[in-house]
Parts: sequence; structure tokens; C-alpha cells
Amino acid sequence: MANIIAIPAFKDNYIWAIHSLEGSNLIVVDPGSADPVLEYLHSNNLNLQSILITHHHWDHTGGILALKKHYPHIQVYGPLKEKIDGLTHPLQENQKLSFPSFDMTLTVMDIPGHTLGHIAYFSSNHLFCGDTLFSCGCGKIFEGTPAQMANSLEKIKKLSVNTQIYCGHEYTFSNIAFAQKVEPNNLALKARLNEVLKFQQQKLPTLPVSLESELRTNPFLRCQEKEVIQSVQDYWGISLCSPLDIFAKLREWKNQF
Ligand SMILES: [Zn+2]
Repeated sequence: MANIIAIPAFKDNYIWAIHSLEGSNLIVVDPGSADPVLEYLHSNNLNLQSILITHHHWDHTGGILALKKHYPHIQVYGPLKEKIDGLTHPLQENQKLSFPSFDMTLTVMDIPGHTLGHIAYFSSNHLFCGDTLFSCGCGKIFEGTPAQMANSLEKIKKLSVNTQIYCGHEYTFSNIAFAQKVEPNNLALKARLNEVLKFQQQKLPTLPVSLESELRTNPFLRCQEKEVIQSVQDYWGISLCSPLDIFAKLREWKNQF
């Protein structure tokens, strides 16, 4: 598949820019702002072909209408279950989007929790997951329930371990600080921190990250691990039996962190 670049927006958002194989067309994921996308298009002499939206929050959708003014015929894909101005192609779970000139076929996955209609787009080795999964963390549960969010993360866990994950925000460094509180003895997490520090020194994104790395470092994907269970129970001073309770209390702990 084609080259994928992070266009930074606002304080810590990433608008993912997917280049067509011959290089002249672009698909962008979650353009919260039009300006950085227009600048990228103009400075690289590119045409905008499509927009993919994961959920309705303004920092993921705010650029749609301005981009449509410049490119009136673009396709704008997004969740059927959310009200988003400017969508041309509302999507349901398991729908497939084929982009031959990008050598890319994406499948839609429902991943409610952060918002109720939140969707992800995945291919055999790419996942665009908006604000559901972050490196070493997960999104806040604004509209859904912990059970919905946990179920959405379980669906992501079933993808190929080689999947590269493109998240909506650069939260990795602060997420690792929390993850290390939860799993102070996790060596893979220490290694990820060292990697992230190197990226930061070079002012590079810490993303994408492989699912394989996340399965070893992200406490929200590790609620069956002994150390995670113990830390959550110790923090709240209670004993919890189910992985879902552990997940819910882990997310609540993170909210207070
Ligand atoms: Zn959001």
C-alpha cells in the first residue's frame, strides 16, 4: 500500500494522509482542520480524492466543509450512526471501500465507546482507529459504556499482529507514564519509552505502532495480566473478578491520573 504521512493539527492531532501509488492523489483521515491539509496538498502539488472520518468530534471533522469548497466532488466517508455535516458516503460495519489507485481496500469496523457511532477502517495491515486506541492507552469513554469500549478493543486485538495502527492523537509519552504505574515491571514498556524518547528528540511522530507492540505494552489491552489486575485492585483497594471490571476501573484510574 501507499505511503502514509502524519499531518499535525492543533496541539496533538494527526490527520493521516494516504498517497496514491503514482503519487498525485491523496486521501485524508479525520481532517479536524482544513488549513494544514490544504497547505500539504498545495506544497506537494496533490489532488484531494477522499476523506475518511472515524467519529463526529470537531477535532476530527472541522475541516470537511472547507475542504469540500476547494474540492466539491470529493467523497466523504464516515459513520452512518453519527450526524456529521458533509458526509457523502455513510458507512456501516463490514462495508468495504476499494481504492485501486492506492492499492488499498478498507473494511469498516464498529468500535463504539469513545462515541456511540465511532468506526475504524482496516486493511490487511493498517488500522485507522481515531480516538479508540492510542499507543499505550485508549480513548475516553464519552458516550458509550466501559463494556462497549472493552468489546471494541477486543475486536482490534483480533486483527493481525502486524497491523500498523494510526491513532488520532500523539498521546504516547503521557500514556506510557500511566502505563508504567500500572505495570512497573513490564520490560517491553521500558523499551517502548526509549523508542518514544528517540522519536521525540527527532521531533517525529511515535506512530504508527504495530499491534504486536501494543499487545505487549498497552495496559488497556492487557486486563488479563496479573500485574495489571493487581495494580488496579491495589489502587482502588477492592477486589475485582472480571476482566471487564478491571478494564472499567483501569479507565477510571486513568481519568484521575
Ligand atoms: Zn474524539
